Amino acid sequence: MSRVYNFSAGPAVLPEEVLKEAADEMLDYQGTGMSVMEMSHRSKAYDDIIKTAEKDLRELMNIPDNYKVLFLQGGASQQFAMIPMNLMKNKVADYIVTGQWAKKAWQEASKYGKANKIASSEDKTFSYIPDCSDLPISEDADYVYICENNTIYGTKFKELPNTKGKTLVADISSCFLSEPIDVTKYGIIYGGVQKNVGPAGVVIVIIREDLITEDVLPGTPTMLKYKTHADADSLYNTPPAYGIYICGKVFKWLKKIGGLETMKKLNEEKAKILYDFLDSSKLFKGTVEPKDRSLMNVPFVTGSDELDAKFVAEAAKAGFVNLKGHRTVGGMRASIYNAMPKAGVEKLVEFMKKFEEENQ
Ligand SMILES: *Cc1c(COP(=O)(O)O)cnc(C)c1O
Repeated sequence: MSRVYNFSAGPAVLPEEVLKEAADEMLDYQGTGMSVMEMSHRSKAYDDIIKTAEKDLRELMNIPDNYKVLFLQGGASQQFAMIPMNLMKNKVADYIVTGQWAKKAWQEASKYGKANKIASSEDKTFSYIPDCSDLPISEDADYVYICENNTIYGTKFKELPNTKGKTLVADISSCFLSEPIDVTKYGIIYGGVQKNVGPAGVVIVIIREDLITEDVLPGTPTMLKYKTHADADSLYNTPPAYGIYICGKVFKWLKKIGGLETMKKLNEEKAKILYDFLDSSKLFKGTVEPKDRSLMNVPFVTGSDELDAKFVAEAAKAGFVNLKGHRTVGGMRASIYNAMPKAGVEKLVEFMKKFEEENQ
């Protein structure tokens, strides 16, 4: 067996320990004589799995009792519709557009009401986070929407926008559990887990209870009402059972290493190694405003498409895979999520130094 250093933006690297545990339990989960994949989601064994996962997540993120945790399907993209369908009582929402995912969410919301783009960084290819301290928040906005970490462009909100009292909704798909956050500042936090938490197929929604109502847009399908899933503790229908089980293991892994404070320190250390190199390199350079740099997704370029392609190819041969940038930006992107070991980043930088020397 040989494992690569996988810098994919998602689905992405998971802790090896978690994968090994899952392998050990594949045929016989804790004496049940079956795999979690084969198990009824109404069984006692599965009830323990999903309840423990929720409890551990609540502990890790310090989620207050007046928030529900929902394990849903449909990916982060389904939330682009579910949020307006459930929250647009006045049919008005304000969107801060800092990348493709925020833009898609804004476009989707426009189908259901007036979705105002109140700020954007598209003028500079989304390479920065706009000043959000005094935006023209709409009087009757049902919520203000952000994508907190922009996976494709490698920017992150270091400070939340001033929503002037309106409910904040945040897509945290690519910074989920990468550092502590204050849940009370948000109405809804959600993320597809395949970036930093688990296998594709699960989206976790953390939602303040007062936002869960029957008062949704007419025609909202049962499956797209938060209330349906909240009332049934995420077991209205068959949940993405195996995926939730793996997420639960990742939560345990995070608790074991010391929780989100420790994870943040480790992530800062890893990102610093890469950013420091980019700042000193004669060949490679980072593409975003330094103050807005993400700890998770690090895009960089050489300035030559040809050299970029050569770098990606040679890196892959050396065991550093999925470094090609998003098709809309080009260049390279190293996603260095929670489960990427520090050694992976150190070795990548060594490789980049060598490549730089050979290609001057
Ligand atoms: C990947 C990603 C999405 C889309 O996720 P899907 O689960 O594929 O729908 C949305 N938002 C962000 C920030 C992402 O990184």
